[in-house]
Parts: sequence; structure tokens; C-alpha cells
Amino acid sequence: MSDRHRLSLGPIATPDRLLLGPGPSNAHPTVLEALSRMPIGHLDPLYIELMGEVQELLRYVWQTDNRLTIPMSGTGSAAMEATIANMVEPGDSVLVAIKGYFGLRLADMAGRYRAEVHTIEKPWGEAFSLEEIEAGLKQYQPKVLAVVHAETSTGVLQPMEGIGDLCQKYDCLLLLDTVTSLGAVPLKLDEWKVDLAYSCSQKGLSCPPGLGPFTMGPRAEAKLNARSGKVPNWYLDVSLLNQYWGSNRVYHHTAPVNMNFGMREALRLLAEEGIENAWARHRSNSERLWAGLESLGLELHVPLERRLPTLTTVRIPEGVDGKAFSQHLLNKHGIEVGGGLGALAGQVWRVGLMGHNSRSENVDLLLNLLEQELPAFQNQASAVPVGAAV
Ligand SMILES: *Cc1c(COP(=O)(O)O)cnc(C)c1O
Repeated sequence: MSDRHRLSLGPIATPDRLLLGPGPSNAHPTVLEALSRMPIGHLDPLYIELMGEVQELLRYVWQTDNRLTIPMSGTGSAAMEATIANMVEPGDSVLVAIKGYFGLRLADMAGRYRAEVHTIEKPWGEAFSLEEIEAGLKQYQPKVLAVVHAETSTGVLQPMEGIGDLCQKYDCLLLLDTVTSLGAVPLKLDEWKVDLAYSCSQKGLSCPPGLGPFTMGPRAEAKLNARSGKVPNWYLDVSLLNQYWGSNRVYHHTAPVNMNFGMREALRLLAEEGIENAWARHRSNSERLWAGLESLGLELHVPLERRLPTLTTVRIPEGVDGKAFSQHLLNKHGIEVGGGLGALAGQVWRVGLMGHNSRSENVDLLLNLLEQELPAFQNQASAVPVGAAV
């Protein structure tokens, strides 16, 4: 028996990586300190006070007054599923605007909750125009339109101007994935007339993965209240969760209290910086990265006008084994960058500058490594000149 289980292990010894991929991103040291505190009870009055602080700060970073704003226990995908599970009734028409991997996931989820799923699609690297969105709304008359604001698989930012107005015109709810935009890219839920949104803890918010911020406005609440049957997912049922997060404080599940300690600190740091300043910091560090990459002769997959500040897709130059170079960065320098996903597999690297990692020293470090060490990964026949960046 004794050889079936390994009983002797050394203490955990994870390296300090610099996570410049599509997520997770590095957590802020202050957040890590908060996570290591002794837990308190999830119904302790002090914890209940902290819950209110987290809700208030989430409303601030999302620029919304939505009463129903809570961190779901689970990652971004759990919060994504919460929006679908609470909104979709069997047979509801749901339109998903797909321009990358996460749009596909939304369509998959909506189908599992027995929506009548319709899609409009764009190639990976493009965004939707208002005319394209309106044509979809006209054709499918959906009850919910699902859009990904920051498509992490392609590095595209969807312009939001006017989409909320169209949804109101066609009597449809607007559901927005803000997983790679919250805390990093201008995001104004109420001004944009967004009815439902979700995010995660490990990208723009500088926390480890584990929480999925969720918010729902009054039009979405009305649809939830008018449901003919129960929400078909007990864990993510917002009407039950609201009895814990609302004034009743009824036990639902044991909140991951330490994750919420971390979330509180991450949001406090963002509020201290000022959300507009955080947006500007992400923008300027990404512009520094883009300029540096281009001066090295590297090509960016997405044109400037719809390029996402948190995630940059860089085309792997001809003759370079992209995977070998990213493995080299990880093994030799402890730096993680992502590879391509789906339609972009093998074609791009994905470089993330999110939350605490959006700093000029990280940009310069990566640019220097590309300049000095990428040439060795190019085969001679198709060598692309690598110039001087920094
Ligand atoms: C990361 C991501 C998700 C999924 O979040 P998880 O925390 O991995 O579950 C959803 N949408 C987008 C746009 C993402 O980048």
C-alpha cells in the first residue's frame, strides 16, 4: 500500500515568473499579503462590511450604479455562465457576436441553457460595425445580444459607441464580456447601456484567479424576476446569491473569504490610483510596446484603431519557431508570453500588459530580450532584420 501514495514532498517552491501572457497576470504584492491573512467567518460582521466595500468598488471600476454587483465564486467563465444561466429561458433567441474564441464559448454556453442561438461572425482580428450589429438584431430579434469587449484571443477591442442604444431600440438586453478590459481599458457600463457584464480577478485587477465579478442592471433584473421557472443552475442563481449579498445575509455557499480579501485590496489600489489613471497607464505602456515591436521590424496583427491595450498579438516572423522562442523566454528568463489560439494558432504571440504588470520596465525588458535573443531563433534563409528598439 505504502508505495501507492507519495508521502514525502518538499515544501512548495514555485518560481516568481513574469506573466506577460493572456492571463493570469502577476498579483500585486499588497493583494498577496491580504490573501495570506487568517480567514474570518463568512457571516462575521467584519466580513459583511468587507463585502459591501468590494461591491462599492466594483461599481466604481465598472462605472455603474447596478445594485446587483457581486464577485462570483469561480473564475471568469463562472461569471460568464452566470449571465447566461440567469438570463436565458428555453427557446429565448440569443445573438452572439463572434470575433474570436470567447464569442464561441458564449454561444456554446447559451446553447447548453437551451437558447435558440444565432451568431454573426467576423474574422479573427476584426471588430463589428454598428451596421453589422443592427442587421443581426433586425434579422434575429434576440432577447439578448452577447458581445466580447476585449477579445483576448485576437487582441481586438470592440468599439461600444451606439450598441446599447441599438439594443434598447430592438428591445434586447446587452451582455458584455469585460474579462480583459475591467480595470485597464475605458469601460462605462451605465453610459453604454450595458445590462449584464462579467469579468475575472486575474487579468486587469492584479489578483490571482478565483473570482468572477458579475453585474446586472434593472432591465436584466426585470427579466430575471419574470422567469417562469427556476434558474437551472443552483450555484450561480443570482436570486439566491442576492439573499447573501443583499441585506438578508442568508447562507448560500461558503464565500472564498481570502479571495475577497485580495479583491478588496486590488480594488482599493485601483481606486487610489484613479480608474482613469489606470486606463491611461495601460494605454501608454502598450503604446511603448507597440512602437518598440514595430521598430524591431515585428508586425502587429491588429491595426492601431481597434488594438487592445491589455493584449497585443504579434505576428511570428517567417522562419521563426514561435513556440521554441516562448519556451526559451520561460525557461531562461522566467517570462511567460502566450501563443495563438484557434484561428491564430502558430501565427502570433500574445503579449499581455495587465494590471500590476502594465509598467514600462516590463515593456523594456521584453523588447530588449526580443532584440538580443530572437535573431538566434530565425533560420538563415528567411531572416527578417531585427533592428534596434529601446
Ligand atoms: C480569460 C477570459 C475568459 C475566461 O475567464 P477564466 O477566468 O479563464 O474562466 C472569458 N472571456 C475572455 C475575453 C477572457 O479573456
